Amino acid sequence: MSKTLFIKTWGCQMNVYDSARMADVLAPLGYRPVEEPDGADMVILNTCHIREKAAEKVFSELGRLRILKDEKATAGKGRMILAVAGCVAQAEGEEIVARAPQVDMVFGPQTYHTLPEMVAKATRATGSVLNTDFPAESKFDHLPEEAASQGVSAFLAVQEGCDKFCTFCVVPYTRGAEFSRPAAQIVLEAKRLVAGGTREISLLGQNVNAWHGDGPNGSTWGLGRLIRALAEIDGLARIRYTTSHPSDMDDDLIRAHADVPQLMPYLHLPVQAGSDRILAAMNRKHTADDYRRVVDRLRAVNPDLALSGDFIVGFPGESDTDFAATLKLVSDVGYAQAYTFKYSPRPGTPAALEGKQVAEEVKEARLAALQQLIAAQQAAFNHGFVGRSMPVLFDRVGRRDGQLHGRSPWMQSVHAVADERLLGRIVEVRIDEARPNSLGGTVVTGEHILTPHALRRVPSLEASA
Ligand code: SAM
Ligand code: SF4
Repeated sequence: MSKTLFIKTWGCQMNVYDSARMADVLAPLGYRPVEEPDGADMVILNTCHIREKAAEKVFSELGRLRILKDEKATAGKGRMILAVAGCVAQAEGEEIVARAPQVDMVFGPQTYHTLPEMVAKATRATGSVLNTDFPAESKFDHLPEEAASQGVSAFLAVQEGCDKFCTFCVVPYTRGAEFSRPAAQIVLEAKRLVAGGTREISLLGQNVNAWHGDGPNGSTWGLGRLIRALAEIDGLARIRYTTSHPSDMDDDLIRAHADVPQLMPYLHLPVQAGSDRILAAMNRKHTADDYRRVVDRLRAVNPDLALSGDFIVGFPGESDTDFAATLKLVSDVGYAQAYTFKYSPRPGTPAALEGKQVAEEVKEARLAALQQLIAAQQAAFNHGFVGRSMPVLFDRVGRRDGQLHGRSPWMQSVHAVADERLLGRIVEVRIDEARPNSLGGTVVTGEHILTPHALRRVPSLEASA
């Protein structure tokens, strides 16, 4: 019998990937995804612990869902199974069970392959099922094949967890130890995605460039080698990877940015701060100059490469001088875009115990200054493309009539009036207009043939600065 499933996803792309895989695990039990929680037979909140007041947001959402759950039961329409998944579940599972009796299942990011057993238990039991272990076996060995095509642009998790223990971050505690999926499993999943119509794959991992696996004849592969293997898949036009740690950018991966044309010239490479004192207090294991050197090496092999980053302002003990070093680093590097965060203490992390917390108004002022600088860099980057053409992969229908939405090699959103038959194709688009977060353009030729030569025709970033 068909049952309905609503999943609400917060946070990173890994959570988006996990939500899709949860739907795959539940499909054989008869659950089909719906767009609204009202009346659903199962609602899963797939949570993120990075943002401030993450747990409070989950509890207030659970309050709203309790009403829907009661309404469904009162109307005699059966039971709504309510679940909390993801990193808040992992970190605060017991509190959720204690504070929210309407919740039937609480499980972390490493156990959702056991959803069928959890659903069976939850259906029989009256209390909540709590499953926040880090199992010895990997969930990837137990997940079913993807039930549905992920579309033109797909995520593929290759690595999970983190052993770096930055002092502000919960990921090592919520996602567990670093784990790499075997290369053969990844290549197989990529081939299936491409056979289902995917043309762009983003390899995902909390520390994706720490990925390593067994190659033939006892060799060890790094991410660069894996990318080369994926680039051999016929029909896979674009490859990306996120999120990387500066210390794990090895020579082979850097070289892949020069000689794998399918590897897009855009890299999310967080640095967090520009002051060595703060980087040391964050336990980042690199200095600001180490980061600059990695960027120089990348740009030496591929001058078209654009960078994105993550920054935290107001880390405990951050002085005006430290913050000035962050602004200096941003000015030196030049970003196509970046994510900025005010430091917020996460329970259980070493930095949360630091006495020298920065005042809220100081954090606000630093965030505003940093965002202003990054917005100016982003605007200059986007404006540099006006009047030039670029290969755009159309991935969905746009919001305006007759428009398609696509992605540039540099991850910019591009809108253009185009026939829906161009969905899934890479098409040359001349950029007419640059907005703060997107570009508008006109289709100028048919399908773009993605060759190294074609990529070289793309304007160099220096020329566009
Ligand atoms: N693994 C990646 C890395 O090393 O950069 C990303 C980890 S995290 C999922 C994404 C971003 O959230 C981090 O890069 C950091 O900028 C931000 N973040 C993590 N913990 C934070 C905290 N306690 N306060 C503010 N921002 C935080
Ligand atoms: Fe968190 Fe990234 Fe640091 Fe790992 S490397 S602890 S995921 S910020």
